[in-house]
Parts: sequence; C-alpha cells; structure tokens
Amino acid sequence: MTYWDQKTETIERAALEALQLKRLQAIVRRVARKVPFYQRKLADCGVQPRDIRSLADLRRLPFTTNTDLRDTYPTGLLAIPSEDVLRLHTSSGTTGKPKALFFSRRDVDNAAELMARCLVMTGVTHRDVLQNMMTYGLFTGALVMHYGAEKVGCLVIPAGPGNSEKQLLLMQDFRTTVIHVTPSYALYLADFMEKKGVDPRRDLALRKAFVGAESYTEETRRKIEQALGIDVYNSYGLSEMNGPGIAFECEHKCGMHIWEDNFLIEIIDPRTGEPLPDGQTGELVLTALCREAMPLLRYRTRDITSIIPGPCSCGRTHRRLHRMTGRSDDMLIVRGVNIYPQQIERVLMSLPSVGRNYQIVLEGLDEMTINVELAEAGFDGHVEHLTRLQSEIVDRLRAEILTKPKVHLVPPGTLPVSEGKAKRVIDNRSL
Ligand code: ADP
Ligand code: ZN
Repeated sequence: MTYWDQKTETIERAALEALQLKRLQAIVRRVARKVPFYQRKLADCGVQPRDIRSLADLRRLPFTTNTDLRDTYPTGLLAIPSEDVLRLHTSSGTTGKPKALFFSRRDVDNAAELMARCLVMTGVTHRDVLQNMMTYGLFTGALVMHYGAEKVGCLVIPAGPGNSEKQLLLMQDFRTTVIHVTPSYALYLADFMEKKGVDPRRDLALRKAFVGAESYTEETRRKIEQALGIDVYNSYGLSEMNGPGIAFECEHKCGMHIWEDNFLIEIIDPRTGEPLPDGQTGELVLTALCREAMPLLRYRTRDITSIIPGPCSCGRTHRRLHRMTGRSDDMLIVRGVNIYPQQIERVLMSLPSVGRNYQIVLEGLDEMTINVELAEAGFDGHVEHLTRLQSEIVDRLRAEILTKPKVHLVPPGTLPVSEGKAKRVIDNRSL
C-alpha cells in the first residue's frame, strides 16, 4: 500500500488534533490582524484570538457564507498583500454571480500536494496517463488536478471538456489510463463510444476515473463503471477551499477521506446552525487551516453530507465524508413536497432501459415533467410503444418523491449536454 505523505495521512488522532489547534489559533490570529471583515465579525461575536484554547472553541467563531464572499468581492477577504497573490480563480457560478478566490505561492503548491495525496490513494503512479477533461480557466477543477498529477509524475493531457472525437483519439493514441471528468460528461462519453463502436475494455487502456464537480448518485457511479469497465472514485472539492483534492475516495471506495490537517470539518443543522454528531446528515462547514491568501473560517458549503464514523482499513486516520446528497439550495419544493434532484437520478439510473441523460422541467403552477433519455442498447427508433416502461418510471418516482411527475421518454442523445457542470433542472414556474 502506498501513500504520498504517509506520516501525515496516518497521523494519530491526538497528534492530528494538536496540530489542528495550533493551526486554528494561528489562522484566527492572522485574519484578526489582516482582514477587516473578520475583525468586525469576531468583534460581533465577542471573540478574541486568545479565546481559542481548544478545538471546541471553534464554535465560538462566526460562520462565513456565500453571501459574505459576494459582498466582499473582489478583495475584501484577502489576507496577504496583493503583490503576493499568485493566482486568481473564480467559482464557476453554478448559483449566482462569481466569487473571487486568491492563491499565494504556498496555496498553489499546497493544493497540488493534497491532490497528489488523493491520486496516490487510488493507486495512481508516475506511470499513469491522466486525461483532464475538466474546464481549464477560472474554474479550479482542471488546474488543481493538473498540478497535482504533475507532482506525482503522471503524463498529464490537458484536454479540457467536450470534443468527444478528439478525446477518444487522445485516449487511443496516448493510452490514457485515468480520466478526470464530470459525471454527466462521463456518461455522455460512454454513449459516444458505443455509437462509434469503441469498446473501452478492448480498445482503450482506461482503468480509473475521478468524478466530481457536481453531485451524482451511487447508481450513476455504477453506470459509468459498467459502461467504461473502470473504477470510479468520487472527488469532492470547492473553489473556496482550493478546489478539488480536499476529499477523495481511497481504493476501498467507501466515503471520501477529507484532509483534516488542512480542514476542520463540522456538520450542522442547516436551519439552526447547531452541530450534529458523526453519522448524522447535515450541511458541511469547513475551516481552512493552511490557506494563506484567503483563509475562511467556518465556511458554510451548503453541501449536504455526513461524517462516516470509524476508521478505514486503508490506514488513513482522516475521517471520511459520505457522498453528497445535494446542496441545500438544490432542494425543489413541488406541491409542498421537498425533493432533491438526486432522488430522481437514483431511480432513473437504476433502470437498465434508461439512458444516461435526463432533465427536470418545472412549469406553470408546480407541474413537473421529467425528460428521460432511453438507453442506446435495445432502442428501436420508437418511443410511442414504451408505455409500460413509462408507467414503471412514474410509479417508481412517485414512491421515491411522493408526488406524481409526468415522464416523457426521448430517444438516446437528444437532450442537451453541457460541457462543464450539468444543468439538470429547468425551473420556469410562475411563482
Ligand atoms: P460553484 O459550483 O459553487 O460555482 P465550484 O466550482 O467551486 O463552485 O463547485 C463546488 C461545488 O461543486 C461544491 O460545493 C459541491 O456542491 C459541488 N461538488 C463538487 N464535487 C462534488 C462531488 N463529488 N459530489 C457532489 N457535489 C460536488
Ligand atoms: Zn481509506
């Protein structure tokens, strides 16, 4: 079994907690000196840096929210002189206008270092060829992976997303072994190969995919694994905390180890802000312990997950996060019922006759229609006679989401595919 940084990855919990406390104290001292926004916030909470005496004192600190990042745009949260900033990223803006995120030299290197831990954790070595299909640019997704994979010594192909013809050519010509990809594009690519008569098991050297940037279900993971004949590892990150590489699955694929020497984790009840114990589901809150340019205290990610209690057999002592079940702001309220798009995805992706793309359309006064692509295999060019399948999908969805949607079956490959993060929900309701 190999580690990138064995000492840190297998550090004893007591030593880890001592390190966390030291780093937390240092970061609170620093933002209290350098960031007027935090000076005000700490004063509002009546907390001074010297009040942080144990990790439990974390709870005395203020939350930082998405809105705080937008309100302080562009430089209000910068904690170093602007001439020491090495790189600017913005969040991809899935929800609202962008946020500016700064990296110092140390931050850039540290993000790559954590990414390297993640890659080696799944068995990647310098012999691997990694084709990076995330968007290069302001989005952190591609660059942080790129630097991390270079650190490990992989051959990195900066392909970016889309242009499937070219992706396939690169994969064939350079014997790509690992891809970094969104779940929606991975599914699309699998379809594309099928259409081109490419059998990935026979014709490609592909062994693994790192899949993240948007939420997806276990059913989708299995679908990608089966279609491409590979192992899919869940990869979680957010630009506010480096980008990818903050939580990643090890070879056991049973939850994502989050690097606790760099991040303090809390799970809270999103309505009350109260902390929840390990094992309970709530909103993930992260405190960046090592970020230099823009350290955030108790950042409310809005991502819904839980901490998996107990150790992992890989020997890493950093706790694991359960697959995200969505974002708190993803939740749809349809006819008074709370629905997460993931619930719908779980049902659809468990049915073999369903293809790899779907869309949820809300219109009028809470009319929900789900457009469902059929699988390529077994499709005879007609959808009209598939009434049995259609009612089976309606019944299964009703059992899961407790409201009856309209289901509209469409031929494979007819729904729009996005190059970056998928846009699955179209909400045209007149409120
Ligand atoms: P945004 O989407 O907010 O513009 P980012 O590009 O930083 O900004 O995306 C980070 C977000 O993407 C996370 O907060 C989370 O909602 C989502 N995300 C990333 N990886 C995963 C994953 N593996 N599973 C579920 N959601 C993910
Ligand atoms: Zn593990």
